[in-house]
Amino acid sequence: MTIYAATVVDTPGDPFAGDPAAALAEDGALLVRDGVIRARGSLAGLRAAHPGEPVTRLDGGLLVPGFVDTHVHYPQIRAIGGLGLPLLDWLEQCALPEESKLADRAYARAVAGEFTDGLVASGTTSALVFGSHFAPAMDELFTAAERRGLNITSGLVLSDRILRPDLLNSPETALADSADLILRWHDRGRLRYAVTPRFSLSASDEMLDACAQLLGKGVWFTSHINENLAEIATVAGLFPGARHYLDTYCRHGLVTPRSVFAHNVHPGDAELALLAGHGASVAHCPTSNSALGSGLFPLRRHIEHGIHVALGSDVGAGSGLFMPKEALQAYFIQQLLGPAGMSLTPAHLLYLATRAGARALGLEDRVGDLAVGKDFDAVWLRPADGSTLAVNLRHACDTSDALARIFSLATPADVAGVWVAGLRVEAAACPEPR
Ligand SMILES: [Zn+2]
Repeated sequence: MTIYAATVVDTPGDPFAGDPAAALAEDGALLVRDGVIRARGSLAGLRAAHPGEPVTRLDGGLLVPGFVDTHVHYPQIRAIGGLGLPLLDWLEQCALPEESKLADRAYARAVAGEFTDGLVASGTTSALVFGSHFAPAMDELFTAAERRGLNITSGLVLSDRILRPDLLNSPETALADSADLILRWHDRGRLRYAVTPRFSLSASDEMLDACAQLLGKGVWFTSHINENLAEIATVAGLFPGARHYLDTYCRHGLVTPRSVFAHNVHPGDAELALLAGHGASVAHCPTSNSALGSGLFPLRRHIEHGIHVALGSDVGAGSGLFMPKEALQAYFIQQLLGPAGMSLTPAHLLYLATRAGARALGLEDRVGDLAVGKDFDAVWLRPADGSTLAVNLRHACDTSDALARIFSLATPADVAGVWVAGLRVEAAACPEPR
């Protein structure tokens, strides 16, 4: 057992459902045994109740739950920074040429190592990962994630039209390859499988029907929706019988409580009502939406419809893996929306970067906050002495204020420690075997 002495901050409540300030919780220590939090309270209280247990002091900064990224593309880790293009041009010129390189298994292995190391270095301990179009590359991702103990849900990306030919699959091959990956990786330790058509623009009705057959195996589902106006118009032309973009998925039974749709920047009210009615979640990707000029996410409409919203980095369209940056950009976007936006508090930002993601992925019983009984997945954010963040934390008047300064100023350089299921992990400590 270990007692961790730290300023422990999390959001056991839902700040969107009540008083945001009341959603925040703070304590001085956690007792961890076998990777699980067994007690929480003051350092003096835990030491008195568990005399003789070793104490690990995490002085300065904050200890928060491991971050949860609900939309991030593993094959794009080397393709961040393609600025100045709208979605479909960016895909064609930046993302997809890089994604085709993962046909080479050795290349995929190197990328999987860089990607999972990047998650660790950014304090992300759970993620719904948009995979590769190539099955061997998925084996490399799952292997790399398992080695680091990360909570990863991911799957083979499926497309059978419009994209460059080397990324296409037939529905028959998609079924066979996905079923094989599900058998070997779904519910293996902390790994799970997600059926992943790229978007209905590149997936025919036959392919989406194959996806529905795979969902029968109890796995997760993720895809893109309503990201960009040109994309939406193209989808409408490809599915003349569909009521709207969401209907292209819905009529195949792909909108469920285990479905996470990325973006939804331009939804109709009928789509919002359907998402809420089916219990599906939306992954809001603020830096990606900003970089591609996709639009300003209507968070208020989602919340008012009762849709569960989490955050995604959407690397490589997003500008990095660090979830606090996504939370800050989400805050900026809501401010820019004026009266149509939602003014987000520090409690909202911490919730969006942690527990909201755990809820979207059905992992809220295990991770997302630091309550007793949860896995000890945590990030110690502690800036270097003398840094502008350190100066600001010294002048914070309370926990909420300290969080506001962290979300404004923190970078991955301020990640002083990361734990997954009680084990401290270091990105550089996981070299890839040759
Ligand atoms: Zn994406």
